[in-house]
Amino acid sequence: MGSKQRIEGNVTGVSYHESAVDRLKRVNDEISAAAKAANRDAESVQLIAVSKTFDAEAIRPVIEAGQRIFGENRVQEAERKWPPLRAAHPDLKLHLIGPLQSNKAKEAVAFFDAIHTIDREKIARAIAAEMAKQDRTLELFVQVNTGEEPQKAGVMPRDAAAFVALCRDELKLPVKGLMCIPPVDEEPAVHFAFLAKLARELRLSGLSMGMSSDFEAAIAFGATYVRVGSAIFGTR
Ligand SMILES: *Cc1c(COP(=O)(O)O)cnc(C)c1O
Repeated sequence: MGSKQRIEGNVTGVSYHESAVDRLKRVNDEISAAAKAANRDAESVQLIAVSKTFDAEAIRPVIEAGQRIFGENRVQEAERKWPPLRAAHPDLKLHLIGPLQSNKAKEAVAFFDAIHTIDREKIARAIAAEMAKQDRTLELFVQVNTGEEPQKAGVMPRDAAAFVALCRDELKLPVKGLMCIPPVDEEPAVHFAFLAKLARELRLSGLSMGMSSDFEAAIAFGATYVRVGSAIFGTR
């Protein structure tokens, strides 16, 4: 105990006596190395620090270490935790990465800077209406259910082109790119490659993919946002 050495063989690469700031630094180094290995600029990959379930006390040091983009998966949890942190750091960006109900569209548009989980017409229309009403523009991602898992959110791959067209052409939504969460029991690289190809076909430049266990592979396949939680904040 007290040693700063990393415990090897730990599945998440997280050792509990390291601080979140130590782990943030390591994740940033790993992102830079993965970008370099893929012949990409490190600046082309942005880290979303996923702070869901962690309270303001746990988040504050990570903000003070320079991290500016955070991800939350519930509107209400974010509204409870973030106002004081945001007041102290007005340049923070908050991304909604969890499923959204259309009755929360108003709050989500008012509170977040980006939403990664647009996946059905009702939500797309509710977000479009709220952005117009509130005169706010959020960065939006369409979630694709690349594994076609029945229990998982996201538009089916075969419906993605029509759904993106609806969002972009009819509703005039600023769709930046595509997002996926690969099935837990499958090789993530296959899903990242698939999502990257789909985004190219749809002429979308953003790719929100890669979590603690697989962000380096996601970067190799072109991720522009990686969403990393436990590798920074520890086990939830
Ligand atoms: C929780 C979550 C993450 C982060 O997962 P970790 O494995 O803790 O890095 C990323 N994306 C989404 C959509 C999540 O819900």
